Amino acid sequence: MRQPNIVVIGSLNMDIVVEAPRFPQVGETITGTRAHFIPGGKGGNQAVAASRLGAHTVMVGMVGDDAFGGALTQSLADNQVVTKRVTKTSDAPTGLASIMIAHDDNHIVVVPGANALCLPENIEGLEETIAAADLVLLQLEIPLETVVASAQLAKRHGKTVILNPAPAQKLPLGLMQSVDYMTPNRSELYLLTGIDPYGDGLEKAIDALLEMGPRCVVTTLGAAGSVYKESGKNLVSVPAHHVQVIDTTGAGDAFNAGLGYALSIGYELDKAVRFAGKVSALAVTRFGAQAGMPTLDEVKAFAL
Ligand code: ADP
Repeated sequence: MRQPNIVVIGSLNMDIVVEAPRFPQVGETITGTRAHFIPGGKGGNQAVAASRLGAHTVMVGMVGDDAFGGALTQSLADNQVVTKRVTKTSDAPTGLASIMIAHDDNHIVVVPGANALCLPENIEGLEETIAAADLVLLQLEIPLETVVASAQLAKRHGKTVILNPAPAQKLPLGLMQSVDYMTPNRSELYLLTGIDPYGDGLEKAIDALLEMGPRCVVTTLGAAGSVYKESGKNLVSVPAHHVQVIDTTGAGDAFNAGLGYALSIGYELDKAVRFAGKVSALAVTRFGAQAGMPTLDEVKAFAL
């Protein structure tokens, strides 16, 4: 089988995770129990996941000229992701997420840092990289104008584009029209359409999003699995796998990478969404977003 070629254009963050017995009050200092430095960012997570599945994966993004930037780039390289398009800037520190965990609850502050400097001019030299790709995977943790320029570049080359519209924000119609697949979770779908998708409104919200441009919408529903709909066709539900959940960080990233990989190797949509469900189910059984991404062999061996 030919190795698929995926380009991920997006964010790279160091997740600094601190565990404590409780959250401190304003102005209070308490003693925590553990700290972890975990490579993250939706872009980085999706790139590692696609690479572990076996895709030739190129990451396009930006880090600061600092130790975190070095560690993130190394983590990508350790997972066979091509890093020659990860640019180092001395104008901002590497992006980071400060995550405080207490009693299974969390407080998160994301500081975009270098990700905010990943501007459209950074993708100008990408013609060849995109021309060689089967599929381009995008999210929303870098400036919107860069996401727009990336989608347009991919379309000029006739490539399939998946946009994972996370974190949730309103999007220009032009962007949604240059996207083939959009993969919002329910809250992102709500924000994009203004239609409450938590009950009977799910299909109505998906229809509204389809009207805005993408060829297909795949909505992830956490432990309830996912649904997908192509313009003019019926809504299809795909249940989740029952697994023992350890860490759901990066579940959506695993799903997007799985979908991208499967579409790139020519799976039809239904099979691709089911494949993505397996990839993400395996990912939630392990700690750490990137560390938890499964290999193709693991997905193949996973319960049918
Ligand atoms: P996000 O993290 O982007 O909000 P979801 O929580 O919807 O994404 O999860 C993405 C996918 O991961 C789901 O569609 C499902 O396939 C899988 N998943 C998430 N949580 C679980 C779970 N508890 N059990 C099994 N699969 C899960």
